[in-house]
Amino acid sequence: MKFYSTNNKTLAVSFKDAVFNSLPADKGLYMPEHIPQLDPLFLKNIQQYSLKEIALEVASALLENDIPRPELKKIIDDAINFDAPVKFLTDRTAVLELFHGPSYAFKDFGARFMSRIMGYFSKTDDKLLDVLVATSGDTGGAVALGFLGVEGTRVTILYPKGKVSDVQELQLTTNGQNIRALEVDGTFDDCQTLVKQAFSDAELNRALRLTSANSINIARLIPQTFYYFYAYAQLRSQGIDEVVFTVPSGNFGNIGAGLLAYKMGLPVKHFVAATNVNDTVPRFLASGQYEPKPSVQTLSNAMDVGNPSNWVRIQDLFSGSLGELKTMISSYTFTDEETKAGMDSLFKECHYIACPHTAIAWLGARTYAQEHPGQYASVFLSTAHACKFPDAIEDEVFAKIELPAGAEALKGKEKLAEPLKVDFEAFKTYLINHN
Ligand SMILES: *Cc1c(COP(=O)(O)O)cnc(C)c1O
Repeated sequence: MKFYSTNNKTLAVSFKDAVFNSLPADKGLYMPEHIPQLDPLFLKNIQQYSLKEIALEVASALLENDIPRPELKKIIDDAINFDAPVKFLTDRTAVLELFHGPSYAFKDFGARFMSRIMGYFSKTDDKLLDVLVATSGDTGGAVALGFLGVEGTRVTILYPKGKVSDVQELQLTTNGQNIRALEVDGTFDDCQTLVKQAFSDAELNRALRLTSANSINIARLIPQTFYYFYAYAQLRSQGIDEVVFTVPSGNFGNIGAGLLAYKMGLPVKHFVAATNVNDTVPRFLASGQYEPKPSVQTLSNAMDVGNPSNWVRIQDLFSGSLGELKTMISSYTFTDEETKAGMDSLFKECHYIACPHTAIAWLGARTYAQEHPGQYASVFLSTAHACKFPDAIEDEVFAKIELPAGAEALKGKEKLAEPLKVDFEAFKTYLINHN
């Protein structure tokens, strides 16, 4: 499969180049040159397959000419080694839990698959692959744990001091091996600026083989299609074949993968994009005007995105047709007050403790169901375990959360982080001296 830039379809590159470039030079995003259709017989019998088997089928439809199937199978068996269960909370409402991976967030799917793809393509290179990543919390943990122990790679994470939760910080800083954490005396934006400066610094690029673990990498998008197929398989095994997915959205990579799955043949009735007050997409679907705004800080901080990068991919999938987009996607926006009330009702009505992002998905699913009653299953995506967001959850509810075994074990581990000022020269010196 070749991958073109959404800005110029005539400039197609190999999968390997798309993975290591991350962004095309023209600042578009990579998309598969054509959308392969899954075998109808496979879809008809999908309830017979496991998550790994489904993942292999979907990935090889896209990548069969880039990675031999036995190699792809090894990558998937190693990367997708945790479950994504659909759990019914009422007759027709279910949650798809995507937080059973090592960092307790759905970003594990993308990060674990991408790290192994990068490892696979780096086998023949003798120079270490240096992955730089800035994080506001969730991305860093997924990338750190995704690359931990992957041969030929080294990860440097920049995170804003005092601005990530305890579980998040421990996931970033207690790994050792090929993972290093820099605790930046600044904001997430400062971290991101430092990383961007590194990528454009000629001297650093001569000394090191730098790459980005950015969320717009095509190798993070592809594995996120797997769980939509697997969720559908789980519904089919219960005799249900109509589904509406509600996705809590920030950069729109998660829902973008769902829409790619739909275009590959997954029968989905409708998608709902639920956002916090960073509502660029809901406004666009209402008005037809795409007007990005600077991001606003909210309780669901992993979705604080004013100009969602992956939106161009979604437009590309729908060939820019607003009509078709609106037929397939509804979008709702919720304030922090509504989010808190949503977490509260989920707990009281369904005995379910959700992180704020997940609560927004549930609110979106509920609003859509009220406006469009029907017999379909309403599946909302839970993108992170509630234990990662103590500040957003009431203390008495938080106290009831069952910590995953791994989160408990993190508490005793030693924090290994180097302090860093917001100063590019200091960052550069660190990278050169610690090579
Ligand atoms: C990253 C993240 C999101 C947003 O996903 P996008 O793909 O950027 O739309 C939602 N919830 C959680 C918990 C996240 O970490």
